[in-house]
Amino acid sequence: MRVLVVEDEPDLARQVADTLVEAGYAVDTAKDGEEGHFLGDTEPYDAVILDLGLPVIDGLTVLERWRRDGRKMPVLILTARDRWSEKVAGFDAGADDYVTKPFQMEELLARLRALIRRSAGHASAEIFCGPVSIDTRSGRVSAEGVVIKLTAQEYKILSYLMHHQDKVVSRTELTEHVYDQDFDRDSNTIEVFIGRLRKKLGVDVIRTERGLGYRMVASDNAA
Ligand code: CA
Repeated sequence: MRVLVVEDEPDLARQVADTLVEAGYAVDTAKDGEEGHFLGDTEPYDAVILDLGLPVIDGLTVLERWRRDGRKMPVLILTARDRWSEKVAGFDAGADDYVTKPFQMEELLARLRALIRRSAGHASAEIFCGPVSIDTRSGRVSAEGVVIKLTAQEYKILSYLMHHQDKVVSRTELTEHVYDQDFDRDSNTIEVFIGRLRKKLGVDVIRTERGLGYRMVASDNAA
């Protein structure tokens, strides 16, 4: 899952980005509204964390422009304490959730997880696909009741496929959602990771759709 963080306070931006990377997200950062708007307009994010008080273009305007242009990614806004009117304006501009500064990183992470899974149509923190399950809180993966150890990159790919199960996901789409902007992307490596995932999971849940990409399916007869 790939997240954009738009925040102009350098220390806070770094702290949030580090926390997200640690939690297994690919993260891009922008330090003003113009850069943030551009990235959110041109890159496919699974969620955006958007500060409202930003230089060049303020956060509310950025959000309004994205929504006006049909950008639908979930957006969590960072608001100042005691400014209830900011929250109202934020929701009216198209925000999906908010946290008030200062906040605990744990709360930010929990809200982000909820936003991402809800936007993919999952209500529960644990996501199932046939015999495979992932717990989005702990990052625990299991297949047929056995806990499977995955590398960070394998987890990112499985998590994206699990969130979007039953849909065909192209290698390009996977690449765009598991690597940040600065990563030297090579969609061929995705195939290697998929091979390792299949081996580790030991169950046939990741289908190759020839020429199109991959699809996670819950049962063998769903073909
Ligand atoms: Ca600010």
